[in-house]
Amino acid sequence: MTSTHDQGRQQILAWLDEERDAIIGLLKALLRARSPNPPGDTLEAAQVVRDYLDAQGLEYRTIDPHPQMPNIVASFDGGGAERHLVLNGHIDVFPVPESHAGWTHEPWAAEEADGKIYGRGACDMKPGTTASIITYCLLNRLQTDLSGKLTLTCVSDEETFGPWGARYLMKHHPEVHGDCLLNGEPGGPESVRFGERGPLWIEFTARAAGAHGAYVHITESATKIAMAVAHDLEELTELEGAPPHNVASAVDAGRGAMDRMMGAGAGDLVSRVTLNIGTIQGGEKANMIPSECRFTADLRLPVGMSKSDLLPHVEKIAARHQGVEWEVIGGDEPSWCDPHHEMVGIIQNNVETFGMPRPTPIVSLGGTDARLWRHHGVPAYVYGPYPHGMGSHDEHVDIEEFLHVVRTHALSAWDYLRKGSEG
Ligand SMILES: [Zn+2]
Repeated sequence: MTSTHDQGRQQILAWLDEERDAIIGLLKALLRARSPNPPGDTLEAAQVVRDYLDAQGLEYRTIDPHPQMPNIVASFDGGGAERHLVLNGHIDVFPVPESHAGWTHEPWAAEEADGKIYGRGACDMKPGTTASIITYCLLNRLQTDLSGKLTLTCVSDEETFGPWGARYLMKHHPEVHGDCLLNGEPGGPESVRFGERGPLWIEFTARAAGAHGAYVHITESATKIAMAVAHDLEELTELEGAPPHNVASAVDAGRGAMDRMMGAGAGDLVSRVTLNIGTIQGGEKANMIPSECRFTADLRLPVGMSKSDLLPHVEKIAARHQGVEWEVIGGDEPSWCDPHHEMVGIIQNNVETFGMPRPTPIVSLGGTDARLWRHHGVPAYVYGPYPHGMGSHDEHVDIEEFLHVVRTHALSAWDYLRKGSEG
């Protein structure tokens, strides 16, 4: 380890200390900038990002294929090696019901209480996006000690998996692909996430002739057919993915950590298909045999399985029943990357240096934009705060935990890009 390396680390830690209030201030400003999605208007939040970069004297581009959903992209090149780290976070958040039901703090005020900051986006994912912005700003000051590129992407349109944010950038701006991605979506500082299951949403429609409820000898019942199909779909949950050996062994090793973080049983879900029947509608009246029934199945694909592996099984089940049609209405392939990539070790070592348990590489149950990079073959890792109140009421982040995430991102980006790290 060179002295420049240590000096760089010390300098970053000193800045984080000196600028603690400004860093917390940036998070609060982002939380006060309402950006619920839907509708997904992030103009105010994007302006907070711009103002911060302006104050730091940094250049950026606004890429806004949808005028209310801007993406802010900034990049610098330290020269030298080919390395290119990309930082990514979204600036849109889940909506809040008009009644603010369940909230004991104003959701758009960034109120501080008991060492925590409350607000919509206070874990998903304005702390993580703040970590990306701060990392970019600090490493920019050290760019003569870096080799390779660092790119910042603050994007819109994530919460609805919409087309105007990271998906647009990945498709139209290959300069944001990089060779490694760091993202601060919530998950918990005990884990580094290297993969995600893939959602697959299917709508089933069962049809029958229908009749008076007493005349069951005349027709089948669409609701009964639908219930039989839904019952049979449960068979799919026996199917397992076939990931490469190193991914399979990391999945096995991460089960215990997943159970601890997400509840007993979570670790098992990663390697097999899961089924949720999200909605069901059928019938008119208690004494009529329904002629139509629709339901939606929310299947989740494990790592090591693709849609094309699963759909023939769905077809086989549907074909057992008369009058059943089905249609894929949404979803994405699961994604994963190398659980033993250099970046994972860098994050683990940094977290340990701060006196915290070494985080375990795991696959996450929910989805993030990181999958878009993995689908492009770019290893993408997620390290973020606990999901307290995510998508629910009283969403919050512990301030010290937030600062820990910022510190981990900044030092890990430094370790990845510092001169000499490439060889
Ligand atoms: Zn998120």
